[in-house]
This record gives sequence, structure tokens and C-alpha cells, in this order.
Amino acid sequence: MYDVIIIGGGPAGLTAAIYARRANLKTLVLEATACGGQIIITPDIENYPAAMHISGLDFASRLESQANELGAEIKFEEVSGINDRGVEKDVFTDSNTYVGKTVIIATGTNARKLGLPGEEALVGHGVSYCATCDGSFYRGRVVAVNGGGNTALEDALFLSNIAEKVYLIHRRDQFRGDAEVVEKVKAKENIELILNSQVTKLNYDNKLNSIEVTDKDGNKQNLDIGCLFIAIGRTPATKAFANNIKMLDEGYIDGEYCHTNIPGIFVAGDCRNKEVRQLVTAASDGALAVHEVLKLLNN
Ligand code: NAP
Repeated sequence: MYDVIIIGGGPAGLTAAIYARRANLKTLVLEATACGGQIIITPDIENYPAAMHISGLDFASRLESQANELGAEIKFEEVSGINDRGVEKDVFTDSNTYVGKTVIIATGTNARKLGLPGEEALVGHGVSYCATCDGSFYRGRVVAVNGGGNTALEDALFLSNIAEKVYLIHRRDQFRGDAEVVEKVKAKENIELILNSQVTKLNYDNKLNSIEVTDKDGNKQNLDIGCLFIAIGRTPATKAFANNIKMLDEGYIDGEYCHTNIPGIFVAGDCRNKEVRQLVTAASDGALAVHEVLKLLNN
């Protein structure tokens, strides 16, 4: 039996694994895809203490090595649910059931979808949710980014160094992202802003050919592009826990001091209901969750 099973191998989950192993806890991390979570889509980290100019991919890989080196067991399996049996918790994946004295849910968030016909099938064929991962496939081409937050702004800047031209499409005329990044975007000659507008249709055969964009007055235009990078925010990846863990309507898990409604099951990182979702607060949650795990196990 594990002392702690951590669900999710992003910055919150892996920080929890580091702290758990340093406290000598038998630790299992279950990760559905690849370690790193959302940070892997960040081209350049500028706001994590003492980690200037490191790519999200490098950061994630160093975090995974650190957790491994300290002796955390990391398995790549998707968790489908948790069963609470008091002092023991079962964690189910497609292929196994793992038993732990405590569990930390650190599943983070998933990219929000536009919900347009063809969107899902076109991923990898002209629709992407990760400019850092897929941008280089569109070198010298025309691309578009949809969104008005920091991710969309940073994606547009990143792509402007690779693509011939970048359309940045946002549904309002004010950006949600930081003013400093907005200024950098406005200064780029090959970024064209299309404001007060929504992407309303994807035109495709076996790949994306163009998108239809509609402004707030109903005027439509077609843009021929190689790829649409969708960066319209994220939703919590907590569906697997909806039957027993208390969460808000949009799926964020309520968790003061990282406790959930079930003793021994904790929550850390971006899937927790909180105001600031940053790399540094995810890492902080990981440490705090293990602190609370230790208090419970020591009692
Ligand atoms: P976000 O800040 O929530 O922005 C999402 C954007 O998408 C908003 O501009 C929103 O428009 C738009 N949007 C939402 N739903 C839409 C829809 N259905 N159709 C069209 N547009 C839609 O998300 P984010 O940019 O991914 O950032 C998430 C968090 O990470 C933020 O706190 C951000 O500051 C942080 N972050 C920080 C950094 C950094 O510090 N370097 C980098 C990336 C992200 P409205 O504005 O009209 O609502």
C-alpha cells in the first residue's frame, strides 16, 4: 500500500512527489499522458523564481527527473475514479487498482474547446491547442491564434517568429492578458489583430483550409490559414471525481488548505478552486498538500 497516491504529473503533482519522498513516504504518481502538464506549452518561463529563460518542456523534464531521483514511482495510466474506504483509498485506472492511505488530486486543467464541427478531427491537421508543440510545422505559413489572454498573446508572439503572418482573433477589443505582452504583440508587424470577432466555422477536407470569422455586427470573412491555434482558456480535469468529491459547477475542487470534503483526499494545483493559477502557486500547493498528508498520517 502506498502512503500517498498523487494523481497528475504536472508541477503541483511532481512537487508533491518531491516533498513526499523527502518525508520518506511510499509515493506513486499516476499521469495520464506525459509529465509536465500545462507548463510544457510555455515557450519561455520568465516568472518562476531563479528559473529565468527555461522552456516549459525543459522545466517539466527536470521536475520529472527530480521526482524520479528521489524515488517516486511514476506510472503512465489514466485515473477513472477514487473509492473512499476510510483509512484506505482505491484509485482506479483502466488497467489497475492502486491502494493508498492518502490521495492528492493534481490533475490540472484541459484546453477549452470552441465546440465547432470538425474541431476534434482536425487536431494535428490544422487545429492545435499548443503553439510551442506544433508551431514549427507552420514555418513560413499564415496561421491564426484565437483568444485574448496571456496564452493567446504569448502564442501569437512565439508564432510571429516562425510564421509569415499571424492573425490574432479575440472576441472583445480589450485583452485579458498583461499590458506589457499586449504592447509587444502590437509592435509586431506580422501580427494582425482581428478584434470583436469570433471564429464561427472551420472549412476543411482532410485538413483545415480556412476559417470563417464573424464580427460583432455579423460581418463574415474567410481567412486562408495553415493552422488555427486555439487559446481560449482551460477547464478543470476533474470529471473522474465528480461522484464523490465536492466541486463547483465549473468543476474546480473546493479545497481550503488543499483538503477536499473527504478526509485523506487532498487537492493541489490548477484544478483547485483558487484565485491565482501560476506555476509558482501549483508548486506551493504540492508542498502544502504533502504537509497536510503528513499531519494526517502522523496522527
Ligand atoms: P484566460 O486568461 O482565461 O483567457 C482566455 C481568453 O479566451 C479570454 O480572452 C477569453 O475572452 C477568451 N475566450 C474564452 N472562451 C472563449 C470562447 N468560447 N470563444 C472565444 N474566446 C473565448 O486563459 P489563458 O490565456 O489560457 O490563461 C490562463 C491563466 O494562465 C491566466 O491566469 C494567465 O494569466 C495565466 N498565464 C500566465 C502566463 C505568464 O504569466 N507568462 C502565460 C500564460 C498564461 P474574454 O477576455 O472576452 O473573456
